Amino acid sequence: MSDDDTDNHPEAHDHAVVLGAGIAGMLAARVLADRFARVTLVEKDEPAEAAPSFRPGIPQSRHVHVLWSRGIRLIEELLPGVTEKLRARGAALLNSPRDFLWLSPADWFDGVDGSEILLASRELLDWTLRREVLRHERIRLRAGSLATGLVGRPDGRSVTGVEFRDGDPLAARFVVDATGRTSRAPAWLAALGFPTPETTRYDSHLGYSSRYFEILPDPERRWQGLYIQGRPDLPRGAVLIPQDGEDRWLATLIGNGEHAPPTGDEEFLDFARSLRSPVLHDALRDAKPLSPATAFRSTANEWRHYERLDRWPAGFVVLGDAACRFNPVYGHGMTVAALVADALRKEIADLAPRDVPAAARRIQRRAIAEAEVAWQIATSEDMRYPGTEGPPPDRATKVLQGYMARVMVGANADQAIAGRFFGVLSLTAPPTTLLSPGTVVRVLSKWRLPTSPTADAYPPHHAPPAAGPGS
Ligand SMILES: Cc1cc2nc3c(=O)[nH]c(=O)nc-3n(C[C@H](O)[C@H](O)[C@H](O)COP(=O)(O)OP(=O)(O)OC[C@H]3O[C@@H](n4cnc5c(N)ncnc54)[C@H](O)[C@@H]3O)c2cc1C
Repeated sequence: MSDDDTDNHPEAHDHAVVLGAGIAGMLAARVLADRFARVTLVEKDEPAEAAPSFRPGIPQSRHVHVLWSRGIRLIEELLPGVTEKLRARGAALLNSPRDFLWLSPADWFDGVDGSEILLASRELLDWTLRREVLRHERIRLRAGSLATGLVGRPDGRSVTGVEFRDGDPLAARFVVDATGRTSRAPAWLAALGFPTPETTRYDSHLGYSSRYFEILPDPERRWQGLYIQGRPDLPRGAVLIPQDGEDRWLATLIGNGEHAPPTGDEEFLDFARSLRSPVLHDALRDAKPLSPATAFRSTANEWRHYERLDRWPAGFVVLGDAACRFNPVYGHGMTVAALVADALRKEIADLAPRDVPAAARRIQRRAIAEAEVAWQIATSEDMRYPGTEGPPPDRATKVLQGYMARVMVGANADQAIAGRFFGVLSLTAPPTTLLSPGTVVRVLSKWRLPTSPTADAYPPHHAPPAAGPGS
């Protein structure tokens, strides 16, 4: 008997099902369409076709989203031309931190080149990617369908379909769970007799509060985005970025534990005033609010270790936030979703559809390996914050944390260090590039460690003309 056992459902032989039409699900569907004649993308929401808009399944879309260069490139490879389409609809391609007013834990980044980033509303990203993915003749969207469980072969060796709250089960040779942070995969697997995965969790109790503002063009403004980073001794920060080419900007306030940002009108501005630099408050003070503020509090790093289970069904994998999610402040979730899709593409490149189910366990392990660097970055940085819950850092991690604080100081103004640092942060280069002898010497020669929690001056390359030389 074959491992996938779709014998009772011949129509399922060439059929793959992806649960969840978020970034991870859409990219996985695009990859599977290279191998399967039919791919059904199942989504509980009914996404609007006419224009980008909010939908309840992606509540995080009301908060700042940044796509790092590696994610841009991988998504472009899967959906050629998509970057240009996003730009035509108002997305901005910038260099971070060069085009940003960015206060790191050490100091302002001072005109150094880092990495390309794409700034767009999450609604625009979702809508544009969905349109591109659904142009593929083999991919069909089944919207308004809540998946409620898996169908398994009676002997429990493989997954052969999906159950829904409404309607008949759907048979498939291969099923992907990409339902994000609310994934019920542990319970679904348990119902088929599989063990529950261990979970590793680090929670720095980071809160987001975000609000849209109208900010009119200002010829004196020399920056295209603003980021004030928090630090362990003052865990308050904020991001301000333009949304889709209009005068609409999104301000996201960030704070850990008791510093979690508020949503009330006055309190929102008060929090902005309390940051390490007054520039965000200056930008918002006279801006016109376009929405109430909304909060997001569930920001823990959480890794469900499906890859460690000693039994795993054929024909099923868990990808994206459903398997591993990160503190969003590092902006890695979408880029990791793209890395995972790329890993899936490579794993199935030479497989006939009938051989893909048996490769499920290998795919699961290979895909989750793509989360490793983003996980290390997020958790080791989070562990520097006193209230963080999670396994304590070992000695090596502590040494690395101290070194990374110096890297950040060096990256503020040294182009060579900045290039390497942003190569790693954008998930383009491996972390080992920061440990090459030349880089270590350069980093350790920077003695100015972060001491001052406040900064009110603009960095020279972003200073408004009135404050510039000769004024
Ligand atoms: C506040 C916040 C800010 C973030 N900022 C960034 C950032 O700047 N940069 C970045 O790269 N990442 C960021 N992320 C992470 C990013 O949003 C995700 O990591 C990324 O989109 C991948 O998510 P996903 O596709 O796995 O899941 P999701 O985006 O959560 O999508 C899951 C989909 O599954 C659907 N679904 C759920 N359950 C079911 C079901 N039972 N049946 C059918 N459909 C279902 C949902 O409706 C949804 O469409 C942020 C996250 C948060 C929370």
